[in-house]
Amino acid sequence: MREETIFSQIIRKEIPADVVYEDDQCLAFRDINPQAPTHILVIPKKTIPTLGDVVPEDKELLGHLLLIVKDIAKQFGLDNGYRIVINAGFDGGQTVFHLHLHLLGGRQMQWPPG
Ligand code: 5GP
Repeated sequence: MREETIFSQIIRKEIPADVVYEDDQCLAFRDINPQAPTHILVIPKKTIPTLGDVVPEDKELLGHLLLIVKDIAKQFGLDNGYRIVINAGFDGGQTVFHLHLHLLGGRQMQWPPG
């Protein structure tokens, strides 16, 4: 069995989170340490540690996450744009090993990222 993270406890409602969207496949909640005026994490309920662990059967789930994050951006009024980030692995800056999409918006983003 894959090792659980704090995000599994959030999915099971064992620890609180500011949930902004939920369905049978995913959960979205505000990041506890926001890096932009809007900073939402969208996570699959399936325990997938990192992007490198996805398999072909996850194709529909991954598409679902992108459709949902787009809808949440609209819900939060990010009509002028936003950034979606997936940190993958240690060099990618990933700290919580449960796959998640960051939705960042409400300010001008810079490039290249740090
Ligand atoms: P990563 O660095 O793995 O891409 O992103 C993990 C994110 O999870 C970070 O932005 C961090 O602030 C957020 N985070 C870590 N623990 C918690 C928590 O308990 N609750 C919430 N809402 N966010 C968390």
